Amino acid sequence: MKKPSFESICVHEQAIEITTQPQQMPMMATSSFRFSSIDEGIRIFKGEQTGDVYGRYGNPTIRAVEQKLARMAVYGSDLEAHGILFSSGMSAISTLMLSILNQGDAVLTQGNLYGGTTELLMKTLAPLGITPIFTNLKDLNNVENHLKQNQEIKLIYFETPANPTLECVDIKAINELARKYGKYTAADNTFSTPYLQQPILMDTDFEIHSTTKYLNGHGNSIAGIVISKHIDLMKDTVWKNMKLLGTNSNAFDAWLLNLGLKTLVIRMDKHCENAMNVAKFLENHEKVEKVNYIGLATHPDHLTAKKQMSQFGGMISFEIKGGLDAGISFMNKIEFCSLAPTLGDIDTLVLHPASMSHVNVPKELRLQNGITDGLIRLSVGIESVEDIIADLEQALQ
Ligand SMILES: *Cc1c(COP(=O)(O)O)cnc(C)c1O
Repeated sequence: MKKPSFESICVHEQAIEITTQPQQMPMMATSSFRFSSIDEGIRIFKGEQTGDVYGRYGNPTIRAVEQKLARMAVYGSDLEAHGILFSSGMSAISTLMLSILNQGDAVLTQGNLYGGTTELLMKTLAPLGITPIFTNLKDLNNVENHLKQNQEIKLIYFETPANPTLECVDIKAINELARKYGKYTAADNTFSTPYLQQPILMDTDFEIHSTTKYLNGHGNSIAGIVISKHIDLMKDTVWKNMKLLGTNSNAFDAWLLNLGLKTLVIRMDKHCENAMNVAKFLENHEKVEKVNYIGLATHPDHLTAKKQMSQFGGMISFEIKGGLDAGISFMNKIEFCSLAPTLGDIDTLVLHPASMSHVNVPKELRLQNGITDGLIRLSVGIESVEDIIADLEQALQ
């Protein structure tokens, strides 16, 4: 064949030669992959040969991050797990639910979930005939009664520690009940990361993360993951639904997540240490009514947390004396920390759940779960703890 012209050389991709492995993971930004022959294309499409096809189905950068997170989730055991990365924590949760639930099924869950998850259950899944049941998952007799009386429950969905009151459920005990009655369990492990807590090793079927938070840690990528030891179910049903709903992640967010994961351990150690110091400061402050931090022996779920977590995390919530007005005036005086509706970043972030993250959750459900009008949530960062405490002190004054 004739040699290509100058303009064609500009347009066509030069084949990538990979001779030695790159020391840092490259970002594979491509929407499709090229077959070397029609036969290869046919074999890959039929599933007789593995190979990347189209960016929505997966990509080597995304896969490397999925595999790293799956290894972290089952670290310390002989289990194998499979992870699928999604475009956000919410798409991880919604794709999993649409993969394992059908019309007529019910989900047993708690009232104090991430606000978006509560809304997903009430506004998207309930109209499809999938019924959410919000109950107290800390009361195991209550959980067992539900399971005994309601055959329609297919999934127990929990978050521990939960947003924003840091309530904890006993993961092992919930899973034992789930096994007894033949139900699936899913745990949103966003607040802990697999470094502090490993729900799959406690027999949870599906572990979910909004990787947007601690796993990325730098506030510059949005993604979510589902990890499970049910490898066939993940590779067939969940992957198929990701592909068809289009809830896949992308190379750039996966690449940023990978960069964040490299420092997970040193970040988490510092988050935990700073949070403990901030919690002790708040607990002794005359203007503070109540502090929710699971590292404090005064938290009602301190022992549950201690049993299933290696450290207590970086999240705190607290109530200032004087309710809503005092809370709002406190937040307006914050200078060093940021008022931002996310968590798990290296910077200290302050949020008012009643008017921000939980504004669309029915007030009754919110109050029943301790999300009062005066509650303030702190995601304690990795800055100097003296600077964080100085800012809180001046804002409380
Ligand atoms: C943020 C968050 C989510 C949702 O994740 P996105 O990445 O924002 O979609 C789910 N669960 C918890 C506990 C969260 O903090």
